[in-house]
Amino acid sequence: MAAPTVGVLALQGDVVEHVRALERSGARAVEVRTPEELASVDALVVPGGESTTVIRLLDRFGLTEPIRARVRGGMPFWGTCMGMIVAAHDVAGLDQPTLDLLDVTVRRNAFGRQVDSAEVPLPIPALGTEPFPAVFIRAPWIERTGPSVETLAERDGHGVMVRAGNVLGTSFHPELTHDDRVHGYFLGMIPATR
Ligand code: GLN
Repeated sequence: MAAPTVGVLALQGDVVEHVRALERSGARAVEVRTPEELASVDALVVPGGESTTVIRLLDRFGLTEPIRARVRGGMPFWGTCMGMIVAAHDVAGLDQPTLDLLDVTVRRNAFGRQVDSAEVPLPIPALGTEPFPAVFIRAPWIERTGPSVETLAERDGHGVMVRAGNVLGTSFHPELTHDDRVHGYFLGMIPATR
């Protein structure tokens, strides 16, 4: 099978780190800014950044509906931090329409100001017994999950990694560490079609 082509939404945020981690994990990674570029990828990652800005830019770049259509049609999607906020069904305290791809309610900047950023060893049973070095930066947590959503990891009793079929969300930033297990897990969600 040829390496899958994974797009990284490149409107704003930590794009290059995802591109490098995807390539280390065996994918071909490309930056996505247009509907044409979106059409050429097998899967899409939305990186960390600023959700209010990116929701506006998605609309301006004509990407909101094309992304919804691809993901609802089964394309694997992974949102890290801001990317998970943008994909959530609803966001406490945000009054902009999201992509609504993942039946969860998230709260932005949920872990409090004192601990704006932290790296914590996070148990993720789906990735093996070794805890994952999870980097949280003004991270959201998950307050509600719909019946289709599986929680893969929790911190302080709140979901921080969830999956519903072809959609994955993490509150933390695996692209900022050298542990590529979450990138490998995501590549495993791409069907081997060729
Ligand atoms: N707090 C940011 C937001 O609400 C997300 C932070 C991040 O992606 N690291 O968009």
